[in-house]
Amino acid sequence: MAARHEVLVIGGGNAGISLAARLRRYKVGDIGLVEPRTTHYFQPLFSHIGAGAARMSEAMRDQAKVMPRGVEWIRGSVADILPDENVVVLADGSRVGYGQLVVCPGLQLDWDGVPGLAEAMASPDVTSNYDPAMPEKTWALVRSLRHGTAVFTQPPGPAKCAGAAQKIAYMACDYWREQDVLRDIRVVLVVPTPTVFGVEGVDALLDAKVAEYGIELRTGTTLAGVDAARRTVSLAGPAGTEELAFDLLHVVPPQSAPDWLKSTALPAAGDAGGFVEVDPELLRHRRYPNVWSLGDAAATPNSKCGGALRKQVKVLAKNLKAVLAGTEPQQRYNHYGVCPFTLTRHTVLFAEFDHQYRPMPTFPWLDPAKERRWAWVLDRRIFPQIYWHLILKGRA
Ligand SMILES: Cc1cc2nc3c(=O)[nH]c(=O)nc-3n(C[C@H](O)[C@H](O)[C@H](O)COP(=O)(O)OP(=O)(O)OC[C@H]3O[C@@H](n4cnc5c(N)ncnc54)[C@H](O)[C@@H]3O)c2cc1C
Repeated sequence: MAARHEVLVIGGGNAGISLAARLRRYKVGDIGLVEPRTTHYFQPLFSHIGAGAARMSEAMRDQAKVMPRGVEWIRGSVADILPDENVVVLADGSRVGYGQLVVCPGLQLDWDGVPGLAEAMASPDVTSNYDPAMPEKTWALVRSLRHGTAVFTQPPGPAKCAGAAQKIAYMACDYWREQDVLRDIRVVLVVPTPTVFGVEGVDALLDAKVAEYGIELRTGTTLAGVDAARRTVSLAGPAGTEELAFDLLHVVPPQSAPDWLKSTALPAAGDAGGFVEVDPELLRHRRYPNVWSLGDAAATPNSKCGGALRKQVKVLAKNLKAVLAGTEPQQRYNHYGVCPFTLTRHTVLFAEFDHQYRPMPTFPWLDPAKERRWAWVLDRRIFPQIYWHLILKGRA
């Protein structure tokens, strides 16, 4: 065995780094963290970059710079987890043992989940803010479109910040309106849900925005195929399949847990998404009590987003600390989720809701269904600073 850690964390993204930092603050001494990437991304900024409202350099840091002091960074990829042996196997075949394991490798983008999509991503008119290499391509496409058809699609099933599929559509429309070309652009927004998003109050404002921009909204509809050479998509909706020509296509791909995680013993039998089977409030594995999970890879029913996992980090860190001290975990995650809808390039609607899409506002005295300029300042300017300086340090 190459090594063993009292706490081993898989994934150094939003969840893994903030959790490891918080555990260090709780004086946990021996933490190892497995992460293959040398660049850490603050993904929420990708939406702003795609709309020309932020630069890529603001969303990136060297992974070494965000790694909490005192945490051993194991530079590699996990290929397997053997929970009966308390061992993790890396892609190079080495084995790392653990006392407690936290699994947070995020989501896999299933580009092969839609026929023609993987090939289409290399074509000049197709883009996705979900690939860190593409938010700047999105902005180049938005900026250069003067007439034609723009199609924006949101996938069915679990997705990180599902509303991000819509954010870029609204900001692009705002830009085109500003440029006085919106009337020459047909904008089609494809969502899998029966209504535009599904949260009471929020839907009314999104519907109003859709009408204001003249967007054609296709509810209950999914992307069924892309033909990049012919620049057409097929959409599967309630009335059958529709073929649509496009000049710009922004796709959010289907998503699931990473394939290697799906084939371990950690997902529940029958969970096709392959997420780690945890108690959704304690965040502890239901069958392996020394295994924990949070963030996008956990089988929790909340909306998968950084706002949700900020709450999860506090719960999991305290529960793990309790278990390391020989007591029972007491903290419970309350299913909170959030989606900051950038309705223009200057305003945001903060949709806060629980796992059943019921409103869950942080400030109940404020009308939650309102777009606000200060919310944009918070989302665009202040949150990135909170992320780099407080969240990743285990302080927020
Ligand atoms: C375009 C976009 C906009 C978004 N907007 C918002 C927003 O406005 N608000 C919000 O709250 N959330 C938003 N999100 C969602 C938010 O970024 C994610 O929910 C959050 O990053 C999830 O954190 P995580 O740690 O679970 O996964 P990630 O941050 O994705 O990190 C996972 C880490 O695990 C590593 N990893 C993967 N495989 C392995 C392996 N085999 N071994 C070891 N490590 C591995 C990866 O390299 C990565 O560093 C957005 C996401 C996107 C893409």
